[in-house]
Amino acid sequence: MRTFFRVINGILLTAALLAAAYCGYHVYSVRTFPTESYDAREADIRARTDKTLADAERARQDADERLAFLKADLKNNGEEAVALSESMEETRAEQESKARRLAELQEMVRIREDLPASVEEARSQYADRIRELEEKIRNGETEVRICYWTLDDGPTYITKNFLDALDEMDGRVRVTFFTANGANDSPDEEEILRREMTSGHSVQNHSYAHVTNADGPVYRSPDSFREQILLQDEWLLEVTGFHPTIFRFPGGSAWGRDLVPGATDVIAELGYEWVDWNCNLYDAGAADKLPSAALETSRAVTQISEEPIAMILGHDWNSNTLIAMKNAIPMLQEKGYVFLPLFPESVTMGLVAAR
Ligand SMILES: [Zn+2]
Repeated sequence: MRTFFRVINGILLTAALLAAAYCGYHVYSVRTFPTESYDAREADIRARTDKTLADAERARQDADERLAFLKADLKNNGEEAVALSESMEETRAEQESKARRLAELQEMVRIREDLPASVEEARSQYADRIRELEEKIRNGETEVRICYWTLDDGPTYITKNFLDALDEMDGRVRVTFFTANGANDSPDEEEILRREMTSGHSVQNHSYAHVTNADGPVYRSPDSFREQILLQDEWLLEVTGFHPTIFRFPGGSAWGRDLVPGATDVIAELGYEWVDWNCNLYDAGAADKLPSAALETSRAVTQISEEPIAMILGHDWNSNTLIAMKNAIPMLQEKGYVFLPLFPESVTMGLVAAR
């Protein structure tokens, strides 16, 4: 019996020990292993959350930067688009102005090419076209400019040098000679006059005696004044076969009209027009006070810029004027001037020089 109880005790003890061991194992595994596993997972989750937050922050920053860039880009594109449309507008305006300029240049070439080879040729139709061009210039409808370069007091012993220079000019250049038979004594004046006419220049009347004093033959009386115009007219008719139609007062219209009241009526009765100038080379003063060729050139170029239809006063007895003319004409052609012979149909008739 005792043995039986001892066996039972032994069994119970063993069972108790086994139960204790089992519980101990569970307590150990609950207290130790699960705690470490949660910490690691928590740390892992925290790390992943931190990373996700950092990623989100970076993505936000990227998005902000991208947005800022797009905004700036949009603004630039907008500005570029505005600039582009402005520049297209400018280009269009430039093209239009070039097309206009081209049409004008073609018109200038046509005018030059159609210039009559001589005054005999088609004067009336040519003069009408010039008149039309002058009116377009006055109305600001064209950038073409006209220069009437006038040369007074010839023919002289150097007039042929002026004619040679004009023949050599690039492009057809025509001028106007206001002649006065009594002002000079050139041996070949008749031949020169005929050459002026046949070269297509305008040959006009500057009185016969070209004396400017109050008691001289030009201005001492209306009758004497009339006679002086007629004498020169007849001489030109005899030499060239043509009547002149424009008169220039020796000393200018202000001087002449002061001395001969009614002078313009006399001119009109004779079927003439008259004209002064708006650009003066001041090349006819005392011999020791004549301007240099450079000064005359600069006067021509600077004064003319104020005048879309310029009337230059020079003299074909002054050799500096010859040099100035050769220098100034190409410069003025660059500025758009065409050099035409003067006709009485011109809008410049009656032009009064500034005092
Ligand atoms: Zn004169």
